[in-house]
Amino acid sequence: MAPYALKLALEAFVDPSAVIASLLCLVPALLTLGYAALCAASPFGRCRRCSGTGKRRTPLTRITRDCHRCDGIGRRIRLGQHLVNEIRREYRNGTR
Ligand SMILES: [Zn+2]
Repeated sequence: MAPYALKLALEAFVDPSAVIASLLCLVPALLTLGYAALCAASPFGRCRRCSGTGKRRTPLTRITRDCHRCDGIGRRIRLGQHLVNEIRREYRNGTR
């Protein structure tokens, strides 16, 4: 009897659209947590300019040179990790 009464109470007081809306509110939070986990696990990403090769072909002469964006490394720091580093640096400078 108790589960049936609980089901009735839930149907009476919880609007299904409210449940859907509250689940949709979780999506940005989960995306943020996922990105934070990605930044913690892998702080560097592939350079977008050279696709991680570190080389760029000049448009006129077709000579390959080191990518200016990543200095030929092919990797860049992720925006989230860059923000974390900035905050840590600011905190360290402020408390020293
Ligand atoms: Zn690059």
